[in-house]
Amino acid sequence: MSIRDNLEQVNENMKKYASKGENPKLIAVTKTVELDRIKEAIECGVTDIGENKPQELDMKYDELKDSVNYHMIGHLQTNKVKNVVGKACLIHSLDRISLLDEIEKRAKAIGKPQDCLIQLNVAEEEQKSGLYIDDLEDFIQEIEKKEFVKVKGLMNIAPFAENPEDIRWNFKKMRQIYDKMKDKDYKNIEMKYLSMGMSHDYTIALEEGANMIRVGSFIFGKRNYNK
Ligand SMILES: *Cc1c(COP(=O)(O)O)cnc(C)c1O
Repeated sequence: MSIRDNLEQVNENMKKYASKGENPKLIAVTKTVELDRIKEAIECGVTDIGENKPQELDMKYDELKDSVNYHMIGHLQTNKVKNVVGKACLIHSLDRISLLDEIEKRAKAIGKPQDCLIQLNVAEEEQKSGLYIDDLEDFIQEIEKKEFVKVKGLMNIAPFAENPEDIRWNFKKMRQIYDKMKDKDYKNIEMKYLSMGMSHDYTIALEEGANMIRVGSFIFGKRNYNK
C-alpha cells in the first residue's frame, strides 16, 4: 500500500469512528521516516507531523521549514527543551515540574508562549512517562503560576494490548478527566485537544472521544531503527 492509500484509509476511519461533535486532527508520526517520504505525505495533505526525539525534530525543521507543523510527542529531557521550544507547535509530553519550569524559561527567553499537553499515565505503568492522576491537582496549581506555558489539553499513551478492546477503559478514563477539566476555569489551561490513539488502537480512541490521533506505522510502514 502507498502512503496515499494509507492516508486515505486513516481519513476515512477518522470520519467513521469520530465521536459526535468531534472533528479529529491527524498527527502523522514521522520518527525514523526519511525526508522524501515525509514530503510525499505532505503532498497528500498531511499538515502535522510528530517526532519523539528533539534532535530529529530539529533536523527535519531545518529541512522542511514551514511546509508542515511539528509536534513533540516523545519523552522530553530538560536539557533538550531549548531545541524544541518555538519550533514545536505543541509539546505533547509535559509530565513533570522540572520540565514545566524549563519550558517556561525557554519560552520566556524567546518571548513566545508555548502550547503543551499534559501527558497522563492513566494505567500507572512504572516504566513509562506521564503524570499520575493523583498528582494532577498539584501540577495544575504550578501551571497556573506560569506566564508562557499554555496547556491546550491532555495526551496519553495507552498500554499495549494484543486486543485494543482491552484498553478501551483507558481511553474512557482520559475522556472523563478531559471533560471534568473542561468545566473548570483554570488559568493557562484550556481543554481543546485530547491526543490519544496510535496505529493499532486509534479507532477505539476515536470512539471514546479522541480529537487528535498520532499514527505512524499504519501510514509509513514498519519503522527501521538501524539506519
Ligand atoms: C511512535 C509513536 C506513535 C505512533 O506509533 P505507531 O504505532 O507507529 O502509530 C504515537 N505516539 C507516540 C508518543 C509515539 O512515540
